[in-house]
Order: sequence, then C-alpha cells, then structure tokens
Amino acid sequence: MKIRKGFVSNSSSSSFVCDICGNAESGYDASARDVGFLSCENGHSYCESHFEVDIGMKDRLVARLKKDAAELGIDEEMINDFITAWDEEQPTSEEAILELLENVTDSFEDLRYEGLAEMCPICSLQVITEDAIVSYIDKFVIKKVEVEAAIRSKVSTYEELCALVRK
Ligand SMILES: [Zn+2]
Ligand SMILES: [Zn+2]
Repeated sequence: MKIRKGFVSNSSSSSFVCDICGNAESGYDASARDVGFLSCENGHSYCESHFEVDIGMKDRLVARLKKDAAELGIDEEMINDFITAWDEEQPTSEEAILELLENVTDSFEDLRYEGLAEMCPICSLQVITEDAIVSYIDKFVIKKVEVEAAIRSKVSTYEELCALVRK
C-alpha cells in the first residue's frame, strides 16, 4: 500500500466507501486497491477482508468463461485446463484466482483494477447489502411509508427512535 502524504502537484484525493460495511478510506492519487479495497465490474467497492472464496465461485467463473468464450478467444480445452488447475490448487486468495484466470486468457480487462462479478461478494450474493434488504422488505413485507408511520406513532425524537430499535 502506497499512499503519498502532503502536497503533491497534480494529485487529487480519492475516497472509497465499502458497500458492505461502510468503512471509508482515502488517499492521494490512490486507486481502490491502494487503500485496501477491491472493486468489481458492476461498480461495487469493498474492503479486501470481505473477499472470500465460497463453494460456488469455481462454477460461476467456469460459466462466465463459457459464456464469454468467443469474445475471450478461448475454447473448451482451455476451460477444462482452468478447472483442472483450480482443483489442483484449491485457491483461497483473490491473487491465486487471478493467476489461474490469467493462465487461461489475457483478454479480460485489468482484473486487478476491476474484478469479475463472479468474484464479488455483493454480485454473487455472498453478502446482501442493507439497501437491498430494505428494498426487499419495502416490496414484499411492509411498505417503507408504513414503517415510517409506525415509528412516528411510537416515538417523537431521533434519540427515542435509537433507543427503541437498539438491540
Ligand atoms: Zn468493508
Ligand atoms: Zn459486484
């Protein structure tokens, strides 16, 4: 991790907020990775510590390679080699998986800059964000406006609300 401190000409401060835990980091001229974050092709950013190789990741990546085979210029045999290499290595880190992918093809965009959705905890539903949970509840359980009305009928200040919902 290299974060320059102090005045640096032509540099700008970049901030990143984790879409999973809300942790915020910033640095001058920093990429997400410089501040310990990973990003995905669908615009998610999250702390490296949330990255986890789950049971379905290999199958998701294989499906992605098959779907994009023509575009990536790869064939069935190369995909089978990826599966064999994965089974031999049993990768547990993001870096190990990127190396396996790079052995199959160099046609992906820079995966260290923007990871695949199949490896992202949010895109793969390893983690479901608070926003998504609230949207789900609003659609299928109880409307947000009804929750708001219920809250206002029970308490009259934010402080009372915090006390009410404290676990
Ligand atoms: Zn986080
Ligand atoms: Zn994602």
